[in-house]
Amino acid sequence: MTTANAYPTSQTIRTIGILGGGQLGMMLAEAAMPLGYRCVFLEDSADCPASLYGQVYSSEHLDEFIAAADVFTLEFENTPTETVDRLANLAASGQKQGMFPPPIALDIAQDRLKEKQLFNDLDIATVPFKAVNSLAELQQACQELGLPIVLKTSRGGYDGKGQYVIRQDGDIKTAWQDLKDAVSGKGSLTPTPAPLIAEGFANFSREVSIIAARAQDGTVRCYDLVENHHDNGILAKTRAPAIGTSHLFAKAQTSMTTLMNHLDYVGVMALELFVSKDAQGHDYLLANEIAPRVHNSGHWSIEGAITSQFENHIRAVVGLPLGDTDNVHPAILVNVLGQYPNIKDVLAIDGAHYHSYHKEERAERKIAHITLMPNDVADLEPALAKLVAVLPNKVGLDKKAHSTSTPKDNTESKATIEDLPKIKQAQKVSQAKEPEDMTTENNLKPNSHIKTNKDKK
Ligand code: AMP
Repeated sequence: MTTANAYPTSQTIRTIGILGGGQLGMMLAEAAMPLGYRCVFLEDSADCPASLYGQVYSSEHLDEFIAAADVFTLEFENTPTETVDRLANLAASGQKQGMFPPPIALDIAQDRLKEKQLFNDLDIATVPFKAVNSLAELQQACQELGLPIVLKTSRGGYDGKGQYVIRQDGDIKTAWQDLKDAVSGKGSLTPTPAPLIAEGFANFSREVSIIAARAQDGTVRCYDLVENHHDNGILAKTRAPAIGTSHLFAKAQTSMTTLMNHLDYVGVMALELFVSKDAQGHDYLLANEIAPRVHNSGHWSIEGAITSQFENHIRAVVGLPLGDTDNVHPAILVNVLGQYPNIKDVLAIDGAHYHSYHKEERAERKIAHITLMPNDVADLEPALAKLVAVLPNKVGLDKKAHSTSTPKDNTESKATIEDLPKIKQAQKVSQAKEPEDMTTENNLKPNSHIKTNKDKK
């Protein structure tokens, strides 16, 4: 794939068309500007965060959006595949400079069964799983996998939404009743009929993610593994790099590189993983899912890495060489959910960097993030404590500090059997709200029947 003229497109590209206009789009545009590119957005919410940085086209004005841009990318993976296919076809016929990532990456990321199957085909370990199309198949899956299991919609669910933990035989029928509509394509969770997926329960000690960028010439550059803390399925904070995970990095990097090469991926992608323990007490990784875009657990990289995930995504999309992904300094990223803090209080903390998304306050909505990077690493946890004290919404932040070493046993486990009701609770909470504000990074409403966004995180 490498040629003497490996980066021909960057000179002829002026405008990048981004599918979605949430904060991810906003931060992509912030990174594109100094490189000399402008961005336009396909997004139904006219006052979305990205509107501060470029023209926003609603889905009714798709043709104008297409005409306005030279190359395309996305910040929202539940974008209708027809739109992405159309853009990819325009690129294939030479009318546009590219659609990155390729449609196949979305196809995989939108379907948990295909995703887990691909992981396994590529020798990337996952929890055991089975497709479920009927109550009888669910009963069979429970027997084969052993309880507890996590039952999920294979399409359309995210962050605990569309999930049910089955702990005992008595839960099986209730879980089926709750999620069966997804199989026939009824209800709000899934756009089309699709089987459920029954997953073995991962008794993990930590949740981590790896983010990487892949250039058009096939170069892959990975960021460090980071540790993520969720509350009710929403990312509360990320520690970068994750402490005590150097023994897991090579495996995560290999998995990521294998996936990206297989998909002929261009751009930034995240891989979310559970850290589990084998019978001998050795840590190993289980892949949970990919996000084919820049990711919330990589926001620290704006200040904390030599090249941010946003800049590297732009570089990849326009055909420029990737930048160094090394950490400049350890950092903690904190999401601001629902209510803005007093910015004065936040910036009084040494090493705090504030990023507002210019969104209206709404319960549990991601409206800003703060990256803590005090000069002395020893001040990191104290800075977090100061920040928590001034945040109006402390959800997910007032629990244990980040791991300071690899957990020795499952007593530190974040997902133990005691936590199971929480996943179910997450589902209930999320169903009570508008999908766009659950956990989402953006407000794109691609099709009225697909108001879901797997972001996380
Ligand atoms: P997901 O939508 O797959 O990212 O799931 C949301 C959260 O539920 C994850 O971040 C985990 O904390 C938890 N979870 C998902 N799948 C499993 C599983 N198979 N075993 C244990 N916990 C899980």
